[in-house]
Amino acid sequence: MLRGTTIDALEGYDRGQALAAGFSSAKVKDWALLHDVYFGPTQAVKQQATAVRLAREAAFTFDQLVMIERALKRIRRSRTRMKLRLRLLRQKRNYRTLSALVRELVPKPARKPVKRVAFSKSRDGLRTVTATADERDVADLEHHLNQGIDPEQPAGPQLVENLLSLMRGEGGGVARAVPRPMILVPLPEYVRILDGEGDDVVLGLTDATTMTGAEFLQANYGEQLEVAAFHPQAGPVNLYRTERLANRKQRNLARAAMPVCPFPGCRQGADLCEIHHIEAWSRGGETNLANLSPLCRYHNRVNDDDPGRARRGRIENVAGIPTWCSPGGYAVANPYHPFAAMRTLFPQ
Ligand SMILES: [Zn+2]
Repeated sequence: MLRGTTIDALEGYDRGQALAAGFSSAKVKDWALLHDVYFGPTQAVKQQATAVRLAREAAFTFDQLVMIERALKRIRRSRTRMKLRLRLLRQKRNYRTLSALVRELVPKPARKPVKRVAFSKSRDGLRTVTATADERDVADLEHHLNQGIDPEQPAGPQLVENLLSLMRGEGGGVARAVPRPMILVPLPEYVRILDGEGDDVVLGLTDATTMTGAEFLQANYGEQLEVAAFHPQAGPVNLYRTERLANRKQRNLARAAMPVCPFPGCRQGADLCEIHHIEAWSRGGETNLANLSPLCRYHNRVNDDDPGRARRGRIENVAGIPTWCSPGGYAVANPYHPFAAMRTLFPQ
């Protein structure tokens, strides 16, 4: 039924016919939306005709027209909608560049997360619960649930087991600040904070959260928190060791230098990461700080340990910072943690 250009096919659109022809209800809904916009009753007859002409001339596809209308739904006033529609239709683009222009002209309202707990319907006898709470409380829960899990087995079911024993009262509750995260403080800022002048300073923690200089002083974590002070030139202390397993100090400093798994988009805090040899121990890689990087369990498994057989990319030491490099050799930082690098602490 969609013969000719999309827009012409829409003119003769008939909902009942489309449903009878076996199209999905989502498709039928999209067509109805477009039909209404381009051929439905309107006060702006001239502009509507212009829209039809532009869509026809540039042979916009069905998917492109739907993308435009879905975005325009967010605009309340129909006159503003029509203005933006005509502007978008005036420039023929491919799907990707059109979608970029739509995002630019009709930005999605930033959705602020709110504290909540939500439960899903059952599927195959299972239900999903999601909770949004203060990041420090959730970091404590995540750390608690990760206690004692077997790294050789899938993590998911074990995390559920731990959550259930917590819920049934066998776990004794979640302690505050269990992970004893390390705070990463550039030396000059550390001095300012101790002088009470660092309220605007934002500090990174190795559990992938942040706190301000003021919170740092109020929190009174005392010995619960370790502070890793970085020197602009010297960086973290580099302990050379010939042993295969990193010692505690090395592990802590590796986490401090990279407080989150360095794979782009990964949100796993370094506290829950494994410590990975960038150049594999089996290939002569040494256990010193320059060769260590925290990697979450999953990314440690998929990292291409063999540089010659790159499929998923691998972690490399780029200017002292563990950084993911694509199979083609492009270095991409993980922007998830605002402190995920010495470079962030000391922008040159
Ligand atoms: Zn990861």
